Amino acid sequence: KQALAAQKRGEPATTTDGHRVEIGANVNRPDQVPMAIAEGGESVGLMRTEFLFLETGATPTEEEQFATYRGMIDALAGRPLIIRALDIGGDKQVAHLHLPHEENPFLGVRGARLLLRRPDLLHPQLRAIYRAAAQGGDVSIMFPMVTTVDEILRLRQICEEIRTTLNAPVLPLGIMIEVPAAAIQADNLAQHCDFFSIGTNDLTQYTLAIDRQNPDLAAEADSLHPAVLRLIAQTVAGARKHGRWVGVCGGIAGDPFGAALLAGLGVNELSMTPRDIAAVKARLREADFAALQSLAANALAAATAAQVRALDGAGA
Ligand code: PEP
Ligand code: MG
Repeated sequence: KQALAAQKRGEPATTTDGHRVEIGANVNRPDQVPMAIAEGGESVGLMRTEFLFLETGATPTEEEQFATYRGMIDALAGRPLIIRALDIGGDKQVAHLHLPHEENPFLGVRGARLLLRRPDLLHPQLRAIYRAAAQGGDVSIMFPMVTTVDEILRLRQICEEIRTTLNAPVLPLGIMIEVPAAAIQADNLAQHCDFFSIGTNDLTQYTLAIDRQNPDLAAEADSLHPAVLRLIAQTVAGARKHGRWVGVCGGIAGDPFGAALLAGLGVNELSMTPRDIAAVKARLREADFAALQSLAANALAAATAAQVRALDGAGA
């Protein structure tokens, strides 16, 4: 079965009744793109740009960032690329930025909050992205840890100012949904952005109040907890109201049962570690979309994560 899944990984994830889910890869570097495509990735649904800051021990210049983004675009040869703006803070600390110590970094100045406070980090990154996209490619920009409409409006305005200065093309602007407030207000947020990608790693952490890195709580930090699933359903509903598409780029997207459930909830795109792609595609290809929708309805009605997981194998 595994061998068959591997053999068919280049084919789309289309259910038996013709519903297609786009399958992206979470990839950060241009040299990883060929492998992601070989594994069946149709796009890069999440390029985490933190690595540019973490691995060199210095803040990358606009030119260095431009070269990396251009490298990703070239390696993808026309396939879509979602570049996530720098997501520093919480579990992602960068020593050389000398950010102030925080008692609760997960609840502190991280993601979009940091970007809005640090134009010296945000502006060169956006300039590099717009300049790279101006030379061609299917590029979208995504902002991490957005909590409020005000943050999106401010980020959009900065993007527009930079874009016009550079005479660059308009790029789709999306946000991560990884704070419960954003999921609950998804309808309001969807009015002001082009797409959502749900970060289930953080969304689970903030919904269940479980540190995503605490090994003692790893078993309880289940992204298939019905409370998390209800927030995902609310996110999809909010996006639909304004005709936006929704992806998931957290770890649960790469779990075949999780992927089936997310597809049933109406998620349009799943982005994952390349090695998970073949099994996820195989699972979706053997499923019936109507059955996935009823699986999702049953999961939303469940009381516990264990009850949700017990639905695996029972029908869809
Ligand atoms: C997430 O939170 O699910 C996510 C994809 O972002 P990261 O893991 O980089 O925080
Ligand atoms: Mg996250």
